[in-house]
Amino acid sequence: MQDSYSRKIDYLRISVTDRCDFRCVYCMAEDMQFLPRARILTLEEIEALAAQFVALGTRKIRLTGGEPLVRAGIVGLCERLKALPGLQELCMTSNGSQLGKLAQPLFDAGLDRLNISLDSLDPALFRELTRTGDLHQVIAGIDAARAAGFRHTKLNCVVLKGRNDHEINDLLQFALDRELDLTFIEEMPLGTISEHSRAEAFFSSEQVRERISERYTLISSAESTSGPSRYWRVAEAPHSRIGFISPHSHNFCATCNRVRLTAEGRLLLCLGNEHSADLKAVLRGHPGQPHKLEKAILAAMAIKPWKHEFRLDDEVQVVRFMNMTGG
Ligand code: SAM
Ligand code: SF4
Repeated sequence: MQDSYSRKIDYLRISVTDRCDFRCVYCMAEDMQFLPRARILTLEEIEALAAQFVALGTRKIRLTGGEPLVRAGIVGLCERLKALPGLQELCMTSNGSQLGKLAQPLFDAGLDRLNISLDSLDPALFRELTRTGDLHQVIAGIDAARAAGFRHTKLNCVVLKGRNDHEINDLLQFALDRELDLTFIEEMPLGTISEHSRAEAFFSSEQVRERISERYTLISSAESTSGPSRYWRVAEAPHSRIGFISPHSHNFCATCNRVRLTAEGRLLLCLGNEHSADLKAVLRGHPGQPHKLEKAILAAMAIKPWKHEFRLDDEVQVVRFMNMTGG
């Protein structure tokens, strides 16, 4: 599939639930209202939509949320998606809390790769940032993923000034010790939060690199994946890749290859814009008519915006929270 700017769109991120066992301060409000079950896509609907996307040329699918591992039936869904002819890579982004018990079943179901979020190695700060999370459970989940056979696992860390920026090098060392990749993410202005000022908490990728350079020798790398990260390595431990997602300081839109399906079945064409198509309505309104779905997906590609414009102030630009968006 191509959009109107001739970008090839072959990557679909699916939010399988808006629910989560954590309430990370940058992602959710403390008292979130979650969607009633009837508004969420069923597993069969997710599968039907994914099959249509793969038939149209999607080569990579990432399951996300919310927390994908709190959705009942997730392992079976992985198994069925992995079997779609033409799909090359099935990945998942998880907070790691359920991986202690699910890493092995997920690996056996054919899940190819995992991204796991980790913002602090201090149990008290970890609890503060996630509001409910248990650091030891997540570290056990990270270790279970490796033991189950997952390779090229990547940690994601959202850096907030004055909260976890002092842990940048400890988190990096944690990743290097386990030969994991690590991506540092700048906070994005998705949804209204009251807990901190997003403008005041901004810590740029440039500042992260300066901090890393105090302890390691950073070597810039020309490598890229199909994502928005720019990669570096450190001379002291060359096995790990260090990525930076910098929506404020580095615009990655020109090479965008992805669209996002929300838990409600809305296809979002861009993380930072509201352009979307209601695929659930098409699916439920025209059962047994896959050509209607195909037409709706192809029509949606034509309205994919050229780029997002995140500003560094606290005014709400996108009202959707990340758990709705499928980060
Ligand atoms: N629950 C899973 C997790 O935390 O990995 C998957 C969903 S979560 C929305 C996906 C990623 O988005 C996580 O790495 C999280 O840290 C990141 N994220 C959430 N809200 C964000 C925001 N406002 N700005 C930047 N990254 C955010
Ligand atoms: Fe849950 Fe992930 Fe959002 Fe944290 S970032 S609240 S773990 S969905």
